[in-house]
Amino acid sequence: MGQATESCFCRGAGCSRALVAGCCPRPLWLRGKNEVLKNLFGLSRGQIEAELVALGHAAFRGRQIYRWIYARGVADFEAMTDLSRELRADLSRAFTITLPSIAQRHVSRDGTIKYLLELADGRNVETVYIPDGERHTFCLSTQVGCPLKCTFCYSGTIRFERNLEPGEILAQLLLARDDLPTPPARTNLVFMGMGEPLLNAEGVLSSLEVFTDDDAFAVSPRRITVSTAGVVDQLETFSAKAPTIGLAISLHATTNERRDQLMPINRKHPIRAVIEAARRLPLPRRRRITFEYVLLGGENDTLEDAHRLASLLEGVKAKVNVIAYNPWPGAPHSRSTSEATERFIEVLAAAGLTASLRRSRGDDVLAACGQLANQSDDEVLERQSSD
Ligand code: SF4
Repeated sequence: MGQATESCFCRGAGCSRALVAGCCPRPLWLRGKNEVLKNLFGLSRGQIEAELVALGHAAFRGRQIYRWIYARGVADFEAMTDLSRELRADLSRAFTITLPSIAQRHVSRDGTIKYLLELADGRNVETVYIPDGERHTFCLSTQVGCPLKCTFCYSGTIRFERNLEPGEILAQLLLARDDLPTPPARTNLVFMGMGEPLLNAEGVLSSLEVFTDDDAFAVSPRRITVSTAGVVDQLETFSAKAPTIGLAISLHATTNERRDQLMPINRKHPIRAVIEAARRLPLPRRRRITFEYVLLGGENDTLEDAHRLASLLEGVKAKVNVIAYNPWPGAPHSRSTSEATERFIEVLAAAGLTASLRRSRGDDVLAACGQLANQSDDEVLERQSSD
């Protein structure tokens, strides 16, 4: 039982007693003010099992709790009815299941919902739910702010503070899904919210393990896309660790000169290095990499750009998502005309590339692509009234 004693929350207070269910000499009301219960939310199956074993219980109890938390969304030990009363009491004394909270929600007239979440340390991130017919997509954030400062993205204008913990990524789906009147049976996940996922690769990979686990969220890897600005030194490792997850690479320009201006990361990872890294990735059969290209009026939307893009992607298993720019207050760019957009896509298609225009969703509540920046209620209301 030495191991059990080690995990007891009396540890640090000099307790050397073996922990047997119900025998703890320091119940909840005797604990010091600074003693914080361990949060199980965000832990993997193996980690929860290890916590249970350390508490003197069988590992399979950990699996049961893991399923309660992630597959059924239960955050109250008392509701875990296949656990004994003693075990539930034990769990309540040692652990908590705590998620961020929804601080604000803004509903677009197209049904898109933007959630502002408050994290345990008081910081905020945003998550977006995008319904589109039978398709239900959740756009997740991976960092508080973003250090990459792309000029067309509102997230790049706010201060980068930290990476999100796996639990803070997982909670985004749970909170947004449970907030819907009818949670969708099948969900798509895109890691395209605030932050650069590959700069938080560890947190993202841990969350993917739980998202795709049949005993947890059971999201098909084919329905998940992780989007990166092209962090070349992470691409290969990430893709090797998550080979079945879809990858999207933000290109947004066809010359280094222009991409340097739009995406400062280009100075470290220039266009050709990004494309060569993509070319080297061992993709599953029939899987292609999505290249994202936001069209900015008069800046990267010429016919020359379209031809250059087609030639850059020659031989790469690629498809192109052309994105209509979604301006935000004070944005330094403007949207391309519909003629320029059409011409751009036609050139790509003529070159044999699959290219489609991503429709803008949630723009009226600043929830569209590139518009997430923890805006206040007032900013969103101002946007709605100006439309
Ligand atoms: S586009 Fe992506 S990488 Fe660039 S600033 Fe926005 S969140 Fe960061």
